[in-house]
Amino acid sequence: MSADPEKPKSDTRVVIRNIGLLLTGDLKSPINDADTVLAVNGKIRAVGKEKDIDAEGATTVIDAKGTALAPGLIDSHVHPVAGDWTPRQNQIGWIDSYLHGGVTTMISAGEVHTPGRPRDIVGLKAMAIFAQRAFSAFRPGGIKIHAGAPVIEHGMVEEDFKDLAAAGVTMLGEVGLGSVKDGRTAREMVGWARKYGIQSTIHTGGPSIPGSSLIDKDIVLAADADVIGHINGGHTALPDDQIVCLCETSSRALEIVHNGNERAGLLTLRMAKELGCLDRVILGTDSPAGSGVQPLGILRMIALLSSLGDLPAEVAVCLATGNTARIRALDCGIVEAGRDATFVFLDRAQHSAGKTVLESIQLGDLPGIGMVMIDGIVSTQRSRNTPPATRVPEVVGLP
Ligand SMILES: [Zn+2]
Repeated sequence: MSADPEKPKSDTRVVIRNIGLLLTGDLKSPINDADTVLAVNGKIRAVGKEKDIDAEGATTVIDAKGTALAPGLIDSHVHPVAGDWTPRQNQIGWIDSYLHGGVTTMISAGEVHTPGRPRDIVGLKAMAIFAQRAFSAFRPGGIKIHAGAPVIEHGMVEEDFKDLAAAGVTMLGEVGLGSVKDGRTAREMVGWARKYGIQSTIHTGGPSIPGSSLIDKDIVLAADADVIGHINGGHTALPDDQIVCLCETSSRALEIVHNGNERAGLLTLRMAKELGCLDRVILGTDSPAGSGVQPLGILRMIALLSSLGDLPAEVAVCLATGNTARIRALDCGIVEAGRDATFVFLDRAQHSAGKTVLESIQLGDLPGIGMVMIDGIVSTQRSRNTPPATRVPEVVGLP
């Protein structure tokens, strides 16, 4: 049946009520006392008290049952290859599994695990454009995958970056995973990328797998990429004094990953707190990798940083949502009018020692996910991967 272009589509109006705790994702104000959210056509229209929100004409009503509503989580560092398959651990369905860990947006740091990855310039450009197209058209469970991140190689010229940008490429894969490993060349190419609106990330630390190599603080500072990728190593971290130097000297984003050195991740967090620049900290998994795939990786980072890093859980959530959205220029990540209606509903896991969801995270437990919504559409109900949430939201139909 073909849609009639003359006939205006009726609005979809989703009302989420009975929110017990609204985690905004915004570092400036991580908790909001609102209990109701209205989303129209996939975008947040209003956030407030139920009595103040016009639920008239709702097409879907969700009773949050007193659970916490947070923005969908963003994984700032993934390595997708093709569809929902990764050759790294020969696993199928990994992206869908992350949805059940609350991840609604993924950022590729390069499709570097592609078997036979081309290293010649026309080949790497073609692969990036292909990945950008393929992943923007393929969204398991609704997850948005920003991919098509070429890894720079010697021989690229300014025109190549102009071509890539014109073809829709918006970011580079990790600088340092290709032949360019010197600060001078990296800086020149990162500069060309930036000139054409392409964001850059640099690999930091020791080699991840055979074939990659050490990128130390001098190369990171010289390259001046937009994101200091896995500042806590992936897995092998730089010495502490180099991490401290990067936090103090650079003003670029500090990405902490699950598949890195956890102690170095906590050092980075401590430095960011001391320097008053928590807004620079973003979270990723750096997966699939040698360590496998981590469907709950972002939740685990939130619990790790909150419990061992002494960070309020509502602030830890911001590192995986609003901070990443700001640095990556995304429309999701904060619960406020105008943003994507993309949410994860959380509650304390059954039998957690924490009395509330925030306390349970601060004690190091993972929260349970009861529902994930992307662009105003329910993607999953009770997660198959988290420990079971104590309470679970329910689609209750029309008011
Ligand atoms: Zn890396």
